Amino acid sequence: MDFEYSPRQKDLIARLSAFFDEHIYPAVPVYEAQQAEGDRWKTLQIIEDLKPKARAAGLWNLFMPPSAGHAHVDDTFEFDSPRLTNLEYAPLAEIMGRVQWSSEVFNCSAPDTGNMEVFQRYGTLAQKEKWLRPLMNGEMRSAFLMTEPDVASSDATNIETRIERDGDDYVINGRKWWSSGVGDPHCKVAIVMGKTDFGAQTHAQQSQVLVPMDTPGVKIVRMLPVFGYDDAPHGHAEVLLENVRVPVEEALLLGEGRGFEIAQGRLGPGRIHHCMRIIGGAEVALEKMCRRLQSRKAFGKYVSEQSVWEERIAQARIDIEMTRLLCFKAADMMDKAGNKVARLEIAMIKVQAPMMALRIIDDAIQAHGGGGVTSDFGLAKSYASIRTLRLADGPDEVHARTVARMELSKHGDLAQKVRADQAARGR
Ligand SMILES: Cc1cc2nc3c(=O)[nH]c(=O)nc-3n(C[C@H](O)[C@H](O)[C@H](O)COP(=O)(O)OP(=O)(O)OC[C@H]3O[C@@H](n4cnc5c(N)ncnc54)[C@H](O)[C@@H]3O)c2cc1C
Repeated sequence: MDFEYSPRQKDLIARLSAFFDEHIYPAVPVYEAQQAEGDRWKTLQIIEDLKPKARAAGLWNLFMPPSAGHAHVDDTFEFDSPRLTNLEYAPLAEIMGRVQWSSEVFNCSAPDTGNMEVFQRYGTLAQKEKWLRPLMNGEMRSAFLMTEPDVASSDATNIETRIERDGDDYVINGRKWWSSGVGDPHCKVAIVMGKTDFGAQTHAQQSQVLVPMDTPGVKIVRMLPVFGYDDAPHGHAEVLLENVRVPVEEALLLGEGRGFEIAQGRLGPGRIHHCMRIIGGAEVALEKMCRRLQSRKAFGKYVSEQSVWEERIAQARIDIEMTRLLCFKAADMMDKAGNKVARLEIAMIKVQAPMMALRIIDDAIQAHGGGGVTSDFGLAKSYASIRTLRLADGPDEVHARTVARMELSKHGDLAQKVRADQAARGR
């Protein structure tokens, strides 16, 4: 076991950090000013200006892992990416997590990264040319529409959207919400999860189809706020799909009845990317906490000198280090054994990372007194944003269930049941 970064990682970390110093941190006020101006749902020029700079610096599509060993992947489709392993990407995503909007500059933002991996792994060459190429070039964005307001969507078998065959077309009817990224004018395509066969075996009812956002019948009902933040210009939408007609050949991913399989594959990398960025967010909160506590005196001494704050700071550092190591372990497992085998580590980090960061941000808010809950220090926004990650990509309880069931399976009669269940799910 080697805890040193590899020479390649060191080089990438140094180059990305230099890019942050030169371009990203100075752009924060520019981004905020552009975001505050005029229409909320627009392209921000500062992002468009920075993208070619990141690409020229070789800091583009850093998220896309090598495809060696992945079933379905046709490697004849070439694109601009250094093809880093998940472990190589982890410290870079952490740096991006320091400035919430920055990952788009490097074409590494959610939900596009998960979607691009789906296109790469399961798309036909024609689907890749039409959608993956502009996505990898940062000319387009995309959405993933699984969650529905009318059913408990943390259990994906509940999804009710109907994908019905009519000649050479599918006709889609359903209501989705929490469709992230839909507010962005660049969002041109959605991957939609629905059911093609309500009578099939539980995990073979679902399919995933591609729906261009300008298809008649796709209606954005409203944009959903997160604790009052609209997350513009990307946002999260409620989307009505009303008699949406798409050609089967162009739309279907992988095959009918294989939507559940794609969902399992998609959410692994997406989940861990969020966790990597969350660690960066926790580091920023700890820095702000330390600076603030050393800048103000109460009851005759700096607040940082009160032992309760020493304890909180120490705990924050310990928690960040432990979480980072677990994240690296999960990334390494994904690289070496694949996303399916790494599901225990992915589930553990998906629960741990947001909980850890929320505790630290909460302490940082406390350290700032009343200032902490204003928008002056960015902590309230950071809390709101990271709080959603105890829900998005599956709530904590569902991931904890994975961990608990694997643990219990080692020790009792449940072992047989879990193995039978896993066999039925094809996992
Ligand atoms: C900001 C944000 C962005 C999102 N982006 C997207 C997106 O782009 N695309 C998309 O499709 N979805 C997205 N989601 C939706 C997210 O994935 C779902 O909210 C999540 O999967 C939970 O589904 P649900 O909301 O239907 O909650 P439900 O399934 O109704 O669950 C409610 C609660 O029940 C509890 N629960 C569920 N199962 C168990 C269990 N086994 N044991 C114990 N308790 C349990 C949990 O506490 C859970 O929070 C996003 C959500 C948010 C908040």
